[in-house]
Amino acid sequence: MKFNNVLENIQIYEAGKPIELVVREYGINAEDVVKLASNENPIGTSPVVAEVIRKNASKAHLYPDDSMFELKAALSDKFDVNDKNIIIGAGSDQVLEFISRALLDEDSSVLMSAVTFAMYEIYAKQMGAKIVRTASYTHKYDEFMEAYRIHKPKIVYICTPNNPTGDATSKAEVLRIIESIGKETLVVVDGAYMEYAAAKDVAYAITPQDLLGYENVIYLGTFSKAYGLGGMRVGYGIAQEALIHELYKMRPPFNISTLSLAAAIEASRDNAFVKKSIVLHQEQIKRYEIFAKENGFSYIESYTNFITYLFDEKYDSAQIADALLKRGVIIRNLTSYGLNAIRVTIGTAKQNDTFFRHFSEVM
Ligand SMILES: *Cc1c(COP(=O)(O)O)cnc(C)c1O
Repeated sequence: MKFNNVLENIQIYEAGKPIELVVREYGINAEDVVKLASNENPIGTSPVVAEVIRKNASKAHLYPDDSMFELKAALSDKFDVNDKNIIIGAGSDQVLEFISRALLDEDSSVLMSAVTFAMYEIYAKQMGAKIVRTASYTHKYDEFMEAYRIHKPKIVYICTPNNPTGDATSKAEVLRIIESIGKETLVVVDGAYMEYAAAKDVAYAITPQDLLGYENVIYLGTFSKAYGLGGMRVGYGIAQEALIHELYKMRPPFNISTLSLAAAIEASRDNAFVKKSIVLHQEQIKRYEIFAKENGFSYIESYTNFITYLFDEKYDSAQIADALLKRGVIIRNLTSYGLNAIRVTIGTAKQNDTFFRHFSEVM
């Protein structure tokens, strides 16, 4: 069988290892495994949302409301936008896929920072498009402008806060990049961790409303991180109506499940849960910063729910990740991103205790 040529260049996305795998391979009890690898919310699913999921279980035979009227109404309220400015995806990942399919072909390129969310590259390669990266992992205006002038990319990705590095780009800097890019290029502002950045420093807070005046910009958000619904797969894109209308042409019907829809509607109103998640996070991330300073490790200042520890030549992040895994601590090794670094999702106090204990021993 001859597959599409574009497949030759695509590396399969490697997700954070599941707890079940560690139980199977290393014989560790599931309760003793600590998973800090996928930036999930450590306090779990909001009890109110879990109750709504249970209540809707008996409606699993019904397709969801394909207009997603109630969810869009909740998001319209939250962000002060019109429902026609919103498209819902099975995770914001699916919105990224719609965007790539709507805009890219073999003659186009996409521009992104040196180290950023892996799916931008994968979706672009599926369309045969070329990948252009700036030299820095942070989003530097001059580097983006130079690459933009040379390559005239169809899409520019600004992931802020950035995954897997944790750094963020200020609102002023993002707007400066947007203002300097022509209307034939789409700028995607991926705010998967925006709730954390906004709580940390208002200069980094970007809302969909800040971007809605630009016809060539889309804001992406997700329920997977601060809202604690990674397993339900709900995300959204917010942009001018004409752009959303085009993306709708790529959308399959009923693209999120009946239970996901009910969960996201409830979660979008559950501000107390997000607030609680952020308070816990802000307490716990300080421990990671102090731990690094006390032990002479460097880290990237984080605006997300994870922290990236950077190592010098004395250490190999792949070996560290492997040794931790054998002890039941799942974190993310960043070798494949070209960094000698690990990314650790900030857990609960207890999970973090376990991480520090094993990490100290491994080092
Ligand atoms: C987690 C994440 C997403 C999307 O996650 P979904 O679960 O598909 O909504 C998008 N961008 C970045 C940078 C992420 O880290």
